[in-house]
Amino acid sequence: MIPFIDLASQQARIRERIDHNLATVLDHGAYIMGPEVLAIEARLAEHAGSKHCISCSSGTDALILALLAQGLRPGQGVIVPSFTFAASAEVMPVLGAVPVFAEVDPQTFNLDPARLGDALATAGAAGVEVVGIIGVGLFGQPADYTAIGAFAAENGLWVIDDAAQSFGSSWNDVPVGQLAELTCTSFFPAKPLGCYGDGGAVFTDDDEKAEIMRSCRIHGMGRTRYENIRIGMTARLDTMQAAVLDAKLDIFADELTRRQQVADRYAAMLDHLVET
Ligand SMILES: *Cc1c(COP(=O)(O)O)cnc(C)c1O
Repeated sequence: MIPFIDLASQQARIRERIDHNLATVLDHGAYIMGPEVLAIEARLAEHAGSKHCISCSSGTDALILALLAQGLRPGQGVIVPSFTFAASAEVMPVLGAVPVFAEVDPQTFNLDPARLGDALATAGAAGVEVVGIIGVGLFGQPADYTAIGAFAAENGLWVIDDAAQSFGSSWNDVPVGQLAELTCTSFFPAKPLGCYGDGGAVFTDDDEKAEIMRSCRIHGMGRTRYENIRIGMTARLDTMQAAVLDAKLDIFADELTRRQQVADRYAAMLDHLVET
């Protein structure tokens, strides 16, 4: 059987580095918000060309942190594709808000920008005030953020990119991380950049929103540990997972190239048999 994602052979390439990184964490013992967390945030921010990277406990929590940063209130609506992983839509009801489903393009399975107006009208007819859009880049491919961004600007909406499956990719030469005001990703093991457990991150250039998310991932912490200035979560990235990501990020670009080569081979050989 050919594994869909061969994490074992990938691990063989970096096993020594992972062992070394994990041993370092066991030695210093800073399991929560240790130096590896800050170090991987700096590396990831640079990788995504983003001013801030706020690491967190999962891709789902990344979306919740992003929605908290946008100030989403109960009862408000957020447009989301009708075909995506459940988490993209699940996060709205978690915050008492409403997912407003929009049609996807049957070629890409991503949001069809031409159908965003329908979703907005349907929500309006139901009395739901739509405030933003969560676009999703499914199967490695970003959504059409040029068109989605234009629609959002016309209608006064914010845009969050759910890039759990498209981190490392780009749209018209603009890398994922810069396609929307806030970009969320997941480090679940099977995602493009995965750790060995749960993890995620939000990318943004906005200083104020970055500060809100850094606070919300630690119980709405203020300047000191027991000063809690807003409602938050326990949503930190473990130091152990940051240590794994450090080793994985070294070979990330190369792994993406290899994956693309495999995909190209499948596409070429299946060409006259099925639509790829
Ligand atoms: C995996 C995934 C998520 C959630 O990520 P977790 O780390 O599993 O919480 C969100 N959106 C999409 C599109 C995903 O594929």
